[in-house]
Amino acid sequence: MKRILLLTTGGTIASRRGRGGLAPSLGAESLLGVLGVCRPDVTLVGESVMNLDSSNIQPEHWQLLARRIYSALDSCDGIIITHGTDTMAYTASALAFMLRNLGQSVVLTGSQLPSEAPGSDAARNMHIALEAVLGGITGVTVAFGSRVINGTRAVKTSTANFDAFESINARPMAVLNSDGLSIFEHAVSNRGNAASITLEDGICGDVFLLKIVPGTRPEIFRALMDMGYRGVVVEAFGSGCVHYEGRDLAAGVRSLSEAGIPVVVVSQCLRGRVNLSAYETGIRLLDAGAIGGNGMTTESAVVKLMWALGKTRDRAEVSEIFSTDYAGEAGFVNTDSI
Ligand code: ASP
Repeated sequence: MKRILLLTTGGTIASRRGRGGLAPSLGAESLLGVLGVCRPDVTLVGESVMNLDSSNIQPEHWQLLARRIYSALDSCDGIIITHGTDTMAYTASALAFMLRNLGQSVVLTGSQLPSEAPGSDAARNMHIALEAVLGGITGVTVAFGSRVINGTRAVKTSTANFDAFESINARPMAVLNSDGLSIFEHAVSNRGNAASITLEDGICGDVFLLKIVPGTRPEIFRALMDMGYRGVVVEAFGSGCVHYEGRDLAAGVRSLSEAGIPVVVVSQCLRGRVNLSAYETGIRLLDAGAIGGNGMTTESAVVKLMWALGKTRDRAEVSEIFSTDYAGEAGFVNTDSI
């Protein structure tokens, strides 16, 4: 008999329409009811951890959740977490970094429509999450619509589509069709084992994401420093380019690096990777001390920087952390033709 734990955190899946609009109100018991009668070889146990719209979920909530998962993993065979879709990708990355050597399944899911709404995708998404756990997909994943995606690769790309998430620069872990869930081999190659799991839940929320537009002024970097930000992720153009003619953003990055504040560069393009050595405009960033985010998603890079700064304030050590792949976040697979 498998024992699966359902942790609920709020989101649309748990929401009802009240006077002030949709707001989370259903707890674990109701969501277990949504999943309905499941298989005879599975015991499902539910627990409400919080009940928030996920836009209210912040780094301290990731810690709370990671700690609960860590303490529960001994007594269950896997965990399903229901969560709002808006920040699910951030939470998935945070859990993936905090739960080191995770050898079990921790699967996040949610829905585009409230579970009580006609035509809701809630039950279906909870079922794909359950199949992912029972299929032994290891690590933190997002199960939604027809895909199971590595948590550090998930990005919400649609406000309405039932396939709300895409797997960026990596193949999905599994896909669902009328034959059931097909799990790919790379999803079950064990990334850890239950005995060696550790909780590394230190986090520094003082990370700013700066999306560059033509004409962004370099003074913004000084302002961020004055505000006490400890790290900055720059969403640059294309493969990691920013302007320096007239308004020298590379000089702004240099001033942060020299002050010991790490700057990570990711791309505004959803797919593809940053290569700071390709263009003159990128090389200037490298010279200014920027750390290239390769093919990481913006969400994953932001959370990784928060997590790295939770461990160290040393810029060189942060850079070292960024050159290490912890949860499948760092590599790059060109999925354009898949
Ligand atoms: N605002 C909701 C949330 O993220 C959206 C959703 O769950 O789909 O909590």
